[in-house]
Amino acid sequence: MSENSSKVTADHLRRDAYLYVRQSTLYQVANNTESARRQYDLRGRAVALGWPTDKVIVIDIDQGHSGASAADREGFQRLVAEVSLGRAGIVLGLECSRLARNNADWHALLRLCAFNNTLICDEDGLYDPATINDRLLLGLKGTMSEAELHFIRARLQGGLLAKAARGELAVRLPIGLVYDPAGNVALDPDSGVRSVIARLFNTFEATGSATATVKAFAAEELRFPARHLTGPHAGELYWVPLRHDRVLFMLHNPRYAGAYFYGRRRQVTDAAGNHRTIVKPRQEWTTLIPGAHPGYISWEQFETNQATLSANAAARGEDRKAGPAREGPALLQGLVVCGKCGRRMTVRYHRRCNATLVPDYACQREGIATGTPPCQTTSGAGIDAAVADLVLQSLTPLALETALAVTAELVQRAAEADRIRATSVERARYAADAARRRYLAVDPTNRLVAESLEADWNHKLRELTDTQDDYDRASQQDAATLNDQQQQRIRTLAADLPALWHDPATPMRERKRLIRLLVTDVTLIRSSEHITAHVRLPGGQHHTLTVPLPLRAWEAHTTAQTTIVLIDQLLAEHTYDETAAILNAQGLTSGWGKPFTVPSLTQLCRARNIPSLRDRLKDAGMLTVDEIADELGVTPATIKRWQRRGTLTGRRIDGRREHLYHPGQTRPADHRNTRNDAGTRTVGGTCHHENNTESGKNAATSQGGAV
Ligand SMILES: [Zn+2]
Repeated sequence: MSENSSKVTADHLRRDAYLYVRQSTLYQVANNTESARRQYDLRGRAVALGWPTDKVIVIDIDQGHSGASAADREGFQRLVAEVSLGRAGIVLGLECSRLARNNADWHALLRLCAFNNTLICDEDGLYDPATINDRLLLGLKGTMSEAELHFIRARLQGGLLAKAARGELAVRLPIGLVYDPAGNVALDPDSGVRSVIARLFNTFEATGSATATVKAFAAEELRFPARHLTGPHAGELYWVPLRHDRVLFMLHNPRYAGAYFYGRRRQVTDAAGNHRTIVKPRQEWTTLIPGAHPGYISWEQFETNQATLSANAAARGEDRKAGPAREGPALLQGLVVCGKCGRRMTVRYHRRCNATLVPDYACQREGIATGTPPCQTTSGAGIDAAVADLVLQSLTPLALETALAVTAELVQRAAEADRIRATSVERARYAADAARRRYLAVDPTNRLVAESLEADWNHKLRELTDTQDDYDRASQQDAATLNDQQQQRIRTLAADLPALWHDPATPMRERKRLIRLLVTDVTLIRSSEHITAHVRLPGGQHHTLTVPLPLRAWEAHTTAQTTIVLIDQLLAEHTYDETAAILNAQGLTSGWGKPFTVPSLTQLCRARNIPSLRDRLKDAGMLTVDEIADELGVTPATIKRWQRRGTLTGRRIDGRREHLYHPGQTRPADHRNTRNDAGTRTVGGTCHHENNTESGKNAATSQGGAV
């Protein structure tokens, strides 16, 4: 103690003593009271060294925080602050190196203590970091403390990992799997749970999409089981609506395929001290043992599901390759590739006037990224129809008969090849037998000869094994042939396919799934005359289709040429309203499929330069009401009245009783007897005025008109 006491100077005692108390976990805080008691006892130590009780400050706000990093330990940070401000004469802690579990934090604290002439004290002794011996000792303690932590962890995890590698480490099982009394993994004994889980996998297999699975469950109001993990109801079932994340969890979990796995995830810590869990690639998992216990799906199905999910995920990523088939009518969604730049084309829809959705295929990814116009855009309706035709034609019963015949021939050839391979196995077996007999026949005391014969025998045996392996592998490849029942099913399907395809009740999504089975992709090139589509089939063949460019909107709505000719003929004799009535009576329509009206007919004739009845009569020399009124020297109203009375002849030119008048007509002789009532006195006056000059003017006009 004397040596210890000699380190304490008046300068130290002038400042405060800091006692740092810490328990790493809440469990330790609650249960490891012994350690806590020892930590608080250090207060007595400080008093013994000469600090008055009121100058011993206890920092214990870090209770329940792990010491592995200082980042979120407020108490440790306060300790560091007090030391660096020179307020601490001594720092006390149980096993002082555990003040900081992290070596970097510890060395920082040591350096600060050395600068500020602060002592460090633990159960073992008193240290002055300013002296080299003590600092070395403290540094060593810190290093050992970190190493100790590492070894504890390694021992704990080593045991776990060894067990996990053998597939014996019991981990919590997902819903649907349970441990039986013997500790083996089994399917849940509750048949309700089993059937719902099986249904989830079946629905995903049928729809190929996790979202569609969730929707299907929601549509059928199916609920999904879960178990209480803790609490008074631990182990009991409850039922919740199925969620998308749950479906993904189930599909990605190898245990449903009967595989044991361990170490699929890893925790990473970034520079800011945040923890994050990442899923490792499969080859880095600690353990993966397929077929370890019963499951709901086969391992092959599990792999297929993973492939489907990653293809679906890619649909949202860089390249929209074959996302799940959706409801929209674009048949080639996800299959169309731009023939100009090789990028995948996206689907857009526009609505025709009759409200049907029409797909367009657009190569716009690069355009969007660079703010330039789309690479190419083309209407999809014609292409969809052509590709569907191609597929239906290539699946006719006749085509399939040919395919089946070819298959039969392949089977026959495979059988021949099999016989040939079998003979080579036979030969190898004979050679091995012969070598064996030679070895057995030799005198065992003739060691040199016996050894070489034995080597030869071994060599022949290895050759036999290799040949047998080759034979087995080749036979398995050939084994994939069709039996009669399968062939019959294929024939039936081919006959039914067109009907199924054209059935309006078949959802678009199913057509798309069919197309995806039968077509790998379609490359489109749009030229100024037509669209070329290269259709690639899974077998490797490809077809080239040429589809005419779709009509532009105005072209699609052009009135038929025969109708135009008829309109031209009718207008020679009929007004617009009469013509429209005749056309509608014949059931003819405009380019928009609508009956004709006077305005629509007028517009059409103006656009097509078809002269109206009025134009034609005008060209033939007939006069307007103003012209004839001028000629006869009367008002237009008078002309109309005369026309109504039949004293002037004309021709009706529209539905509003407007007329054109034949040229060369004269005033009716009795026009003065026209009824003049009070309302038309002014007109009468005019008439009177006209009367004065009537004879001469009338004669002149008549002559003029005759000329
Ligand atoms: Zn392009």
